[in-house]
Parts: sequence; structure tokens; C-alpha cells
Amino acid sequence: MINSKTAAALNDQLNMEYYSAYSYLAMSAYFLTQNLNGFAHWMRVQAQEELAHGMKIYDFLDDREADIRLRGIEAPKQKWDSPLEVFEDTLAQEQKVSQSIYDITDLALSERDHATHTFLQWFIVEQVEEEASVKELIDTLKLVGTEGNGLFLLDRDLAQRQLADEDADEGQ
Ligand code: MG
Repeated sequence: MINSKTAAALNDQLNMEYYSAYSYLAMSAYFLTQNLNGFAHWMRVQAQEELAHGMKIYDFLDDREADIRLRGIEAPKQKWDSPLEVFEDTLAQEQKVSQSIYDITDLALSERDHATHTFLQWFIVEQVEEEASVKELIDTLKLVGTEGNGLFLLDRDLAQRQLADEDADEGQ
């Protein structure tokens, strides 16, 4: 059994992962309107990954016999001026998620909740990868600027992204 403070923090995190998914889906829809279908695909995969993160937390709460409390998901931003602005927002969102994961990890440590602490290690590693891949895209977009050929090639590149198997690296 998990304590109520930690369960509440994990329920908040579940909501944040679903908000992220919703936000990336809005970005995907924006890219469709820009005829950047590869970017739209990349964001759609990103949204699917966030849903999987939410479900990991959902399953963990159930395993720990905690109440699962689903709240409303805030409406995301839906208009941007450039692909670069979209990815700058993505980085800001991922940095917010990382901070939230660190805060719950601190809480789990202070509550001597070793199971939650260990559970969160996967998310900490995941956030490092998330932030790094988004930073790399921001750098590329800065190089490309608003130049059509570069955006076209990057769009073809991003169309190749495949959904990661979230359970593959759990190894148990
Ligand atoms: Mg996530």
C-alpha cells in the first residue's frame, strides 16, 4: 500500500502525461495544416508514447492498491508561428515533466517508499532521452531556418519515427 501523499502526486503525474499526449496531438494537427506530414507523424508517435507513460503510472497505482483518480485534461495550445516554436514548447513541456518526476522521486525518498523510488528511475532515464532528442531537433531547425528544401528533407526524416516498445527495456 502506498501513502496518500505519494498516490496523489502519481495521480497528478498521470494527468500531466495525458496532458502532454493531448498537447503533442495538437502539435501533430498543426503540422498537418502546414503540409508537414513527417512532423505530424513524429508528434503523433510522441503523443502515443505519452499515453503509454500515463498507463505505466496507472498500472503502478493499481499494483500498489492506490486510488486511481482521473481528472479533466486541460485544453492544449493549438496555434504556432513556426516548427521551431513548436519544438521550443515541446522542450519546455518535457523540462516541466522532468522537474515533476524529480519532485515525486524526492517525495518517495523522504517517505522511504523504495518501490515508488525504483519505479520512477525508468522515467528519469526516459526524460534525459526526451530532452536530448528535442534539443537536437531544435538545433537542426535553427540550421534549416525557414528554408523550404531543408524543411522538406527534415520532414522526410521525421516520417521514419517508429513507436518505441516501452516494455522492451524493462527486462524482467
Ligand atoms: Mg512522458
